[in-house]
Amino acid sequence: MTEPSPRSPEDSGATTQDSGATAEVTRADAVVVGAGLAGLAAAAELAEAGRRVVVVDQEPEQTLGGQAWWSFGGLFLVGSPEQRRLRVRDSEELALQDWMGSAAFDRDEDHWPRKWAEAYVHFASGEKRAWLHSLGMRWFPLVQWAERGGYLAGGHGNSVPRFHVTWGTGPAVVEPFVRRCRAAEQSGRLSFLFRHRVTGLTRSGGTVDGVEGEVLAPSPSTERAEKTSRETAGDFRVQAPVVVVTSGGIGGNHELVRANWPADAGQPPAEMLSGVPDFVDGLMIGHTARAGARVINNDRMWNYPEGITNHSPVWSHHGIRILSGPSPLWLDAEGTRLPVPLFPGFDSLGALYHITRNGHGHSWFVLNRRIIEHEFALSGSEQNPDLTGKDWRAVLRRALPGATGPVEGFAKRCEDFVIARTVPELAAKMNALTADGAGKELVDADALARTLVDRDREVASKLGKDLQVIATSQARRFFTDRAVRVARPHRMLDPKAGPLIAVRLHVLTRKTLGGLETDLDGRVLTADGSPLDGVYAAGEAAGFGGGGVHGNRALEGTFLGGCMFSGRAAGRAAAKALGD
Ligand SMILES: Cc1cc2nc3c(=O)[nH]c(=O)nc-3n(C[C@H](O)[C@H](O)[C@H](O)COP(=O)(O)OP(=O)(O)OC[C@H]3O[C@@H](n4cnc5c(N)ncnc54)[C@H](O)[C@@H]3O)c2cc1C
Repeated sequence: MTEPSPRSPEDSGATTQDSGATAEVTRADAVVVGAGLAGLAAAAELAEAGRRVVVVDQEPEQTLGGQAWWSFGGLFLVGSPEQRRLRVRDSEELALQDWMGSAAFDRDEDHWPRKWAEAYVHFASGEKRAWLHSLGMRWFPLVQWAERGGYLAGGHGNSVPRFHVTWGTGPAVVEPFVRRCRAAEQSGRLSFLFRHRVTGLTRSGGTVDGVEGEVLAPSPSTERAEKTSRETAGDFRVQAPVVVVTSGGIGGNHELVRANWPADAGQPPAEMLSGVPDFVDGLMIGHTARAGARVINNDRMWNYPEGITNHSPVWSHHGIRILSGPSPLWLDAEGTRLPVPLFPGFDSLGALYHITRNGHGHSWFVLNRRIIEHEFALSGSEQNPDLTGKDWRAVLRRALPGATGPVEGFAKRCEDFVIARTVPELAAKMNALTADGAGKELVDADALARTLVDRDREVASKLGKDLQVIATSQARRFFTDRAVRVARPHRMLDPKAGPLIAVRLHVLTRKTLGGLETDLDGRVLTADGSPLDGVYAAGEAAGFGGGGVHGNRALEGTFLGGCMFSGRAAGRAAAKALGD
């Protein structure tokens, strides 16, 4: 690789880069690979500590902020004023009990993940809200109850509601970090290099001294997160004593998802939807491993079983996750109810494993109009225009009868929804949707009718033994659930609550729970546990801290916070190390 005159970040901005046959070379104190939330958090810390930072991203400028922009903006906070106003009694001890029960750390590799978990729960119970509040973030007052668990006290799940939706959703989570980085850019301490794709870490004298890669041709695409071309227009290098890897997970790369599929989860389905854009390709994790980093827990992922096909896709295989209240019946591909406690919103991974272990790629929610109106929400900033647009009037309409506009839109336009007046008609439509080449009908109409009638008898008894019916009634003791999330228990076959609805659910790839192993400073570790000199990692690429802060299962709303917390830690530690 040839090296024309090296440039400093001050003169290496995205607009002035030269490209072509020769490699462009930039020098800085630190290079951050990935301009998602974790990268922005790390870069802001470095720049504000007076370091010269280059942030490199393979995507064009309009994708700045990565996945977080698309997120629902749900944050795991413990003991918040929002919880207290809703009379939710939470504590760090209870949150740690829930985290450890969900993580179920069970490997030698879990040394640093466990330490990160303790630190993260402490952060979420302490300074997290005040820090983010000082950066301008605010939260919707109705805290939500995600991942309810349904096991014993020491098992998986949130004992209390902790999912705080950021007012303005994903874009409002990203905004303060973009603002800080743009301010640093203005003052000349930070520059962005978009359409720069890192393909490796470079070394001199045995030490990592930067990154190298390809300058990608300008993409004709103008929409955020659309798939962009990989056509190259030249090479580049950034020379820096500090490299921070914040390149995200593997969820957009189904080949990698399949290759790392957990051994105890059966086979990955032949068809899966993507809950993340194509740029979440996971390749940078491999490049960092080739430089000596240790990747751990790569079979731990947080994919969802409740994906539906996006009728207006932005990225490849674009799927949307349904966030459902607890009332819909969850049936496997053959129409049998999932076992206790695999009710909607209780144990995502448990439900996913149950489905894929049985060899099926899909399952069903069966519900009725009244339930969809109360209980269906969709994950993603663009699916919640009222919250994303900070439109109070539109948000208040959620408490009125009727589904939200986007849910209505999916019910009408998404191929996975079927609607019927009677059970035989519903079963026929379900079977028509999934008929294989041999025309085999998977759902038996009589068995489906029995399932619904049995469940309705339990509701009518007002007491009953059906744990889903009991859990649904129990949920309504909490204000948010009663107000906007959980329908009053009623007979599924009540004609006044109809028509009946069935939704075919696909496996949706999303988060990567394992990744680059790091210590509490975000330093990337090698196979013998020693740090890979000058290399840091944060966000999803580092399993949100340590190489897998969530262990086996997550409590939800913990990913964005994990990016901000681990990005901040890596940025601060790297800035300090540069000063030594
Ligand atoms: C629809 C949706 C809803 C979500 N909702 C929530 C929620 O409510 N709560 C929550 O906690 N989490 C949520 N998440 C998860 C959360 O948004 C992500 O886990 C988090 O934003 C990941 O941030 P990151 O910075 O680690 O990675 P990313 O956002 O993936 O950013 C990585 C960046 O690195 C770049 N990159 C990758 N490889 C290279 C390379 N070789 N060279 C140069 N650049 C590279 C990519 O282009 C990308 O811009 C949601 C995610 C989605 C998609």
